[in-house]
Amino acid sequence: MRAMKLGRLLRGSAAAAVVGWIGLGVVYDRSSVYGRERGGNEAIKQRSAAVDGTVPPRVVQEAALRGTSPINPLDVLVIGGGATGCGVALDASSRGLRVGLVEREDFSAGTSSRSTKLIHGGVRYLEKAVFHLDYGQLKLVFHALEERARLIQNAPHLCHPLPTMTPCYEWWEIPFYWSGLKLYDLVAGRKMLHISRYHSTKESLEFFPTLAKESAHGKTLKGTVVYYDGQMDDARVNVSLACTAALTGAAVLNHAEAVGVQRDAGTNRVTSVRVRNNLTGKEFDVHTKVVVNAGGAFSDEVRKLADKDVKPIITPSSGVHIVLPDYYSPDAMGLIVPKTKDGRVVFMLPWLGRTVAGTTDSSTKLTMYPEPHEEEIQFILDAISDYLTVKVRRSDVLSAWSGIRPLASDPSVKDTASISRDHVVYIGSDGMVTITGGKWTTYRRRCS
Ligand SMILES: Cc1cc2nc3c(=O)[nH]c(=O)nc-3n(C[C@H](O)[C@H](O)[C@H](O)COP(=O)(O)OP(=O)(O)OC[C@H]3O[C@@H](n4cnc5c(N)ncnc54)[C@H](O)[C@@H]3O)c2cc1C
Repeated sequence: MRAMKLGRLLRGSAAAAVVGWIGLGVVYDRSSVYGRERGGNEAIKQRSAAVDGTVPPRVVQEAALRGTSPINPLDVLVIGGGATGCGVALDASSRGLRVGLVEREDFSAGTSSRSTKLIHGGVRYLEKAVFHLDYGQLKLVFHALEERARLIQNAPHLCHPLPTMTPCYEWWEIPFYWSGLKLYDLVAGRKMLHISRYHSTKESLEFFPTLAKESAHGKTLKGTVVYYDGQMDDARVNVSLACTAALTGAAVLNHAEAVGVQRDAGTNRVTSVRVRNNLTGKEFDVHTKVVVNAGGAFSDEVRKLADKDVKPIITPSSGVHIVLPDYYSPDAMGLIVPKTKDGRVVFMLPWLGRTVAGTTDSSTKLTMYPEPHEEEIQFILDAISDYLTVKVRRSDVLSAWSGIRPLASDPSVKDTASISRDHVVYIGSDGMVTITGGKWTTYRRRCS
């Protein structure tokens, strides 16, 4: 397994990426869809920055994909329209490459719309870095904190800083969480959103009136430590990435499924992908120099289209969230329980006028629409009820969803919580590039 920049695979790739920029509002220049415009960043920025831009209609996107041939292939065809796929399409097209993307459902229909919606470095990973003296985890946190700041800066209409409270019911927890979160601030350095700080019990209850003064184990609240991470509208950021990729020249098509992959008999390299329009049932071939597999939890299925004997690299793990009424939490403050009864982290976050609570982390079967299990919902309800004055009732659950983490697997590790959340870039012998794993927060790093 070796990581390699996609750009290195493609001779003639042009300008540096402007993938950090997310926006809408571009005058659509028809020639930009598959016109070989390689005017560099400035041309792309100008095209993308025009105010009344429109994304080319679906029929144009499909025609551009159908218009490829063995002598007129794409530079890159991306399979999967989640954070990873749309990020790759935007990065590649903003470098001046000729790009296509197919998504079998809608953009962000997979894991990318079912996250906790946090833009974070991962306090939990920092803890692992410190206690296991793991430099790799520290680097992960560092890079994720850089991306956190970048994402909020690039898409301030969809992302914002969010203060999150860590309750302390033992005296030792105050210095423990305080120093840990100060370290989190320190690792963020100049990218810090706001400084973390301790709040007395009185102040804490003013900020979070539903927080229990006494825990389920009879301990009184000694105060809280409040730190900052980001929160985003994950599905909308994802759709913005897809639209921005289209505006910079990529042909992005949803409801279009990769159903087959053809290879050159001589070189064994992937040359085209059979795509089915799931709205019409019609199939066509898209010719391409490189295929990027961004199928998320389904990455192994996509790899099997090219070679049915490939060794799986994904371990699917499901995470459930539930939506509760607004009165469970204040408008502008989240709550994190760093260690629940079984050692997992649970969040309670304000979300679109309601409260989202989650998440779980359990092994699961692979399915496009995983259903939240009753015991997972109960686990979240039990975990938060220990910390709230509100009577937590099953009937208060307004909705629930489950998402599958595309964890890049290490066969020697059984516990899914300890598998690295970093991404994997895997280049098969047939030239298919599989990009999987990692956090939403760090999509840009794995896509460039
Ligand atoms: C419960 C949970 C909570 C999380 N919370 C956070 C968080 O708070 N912050 C954070 O940074 N990260 C979080 N993550 C991680 C983050 O959501 C994922 O890393 C990210 O969404 C993965 O994006 P992706 O594009 O790789 O996968 P996906 O979003 O799953 O996209 C893959 C896409 O490929 C498509 N596809 C599959 N096969 C084909 C085919 N044959 N043809 C065409 N299309 C195909 C699928 O339909 C799907 O849309 C969370 C993950 C989970 C599960």
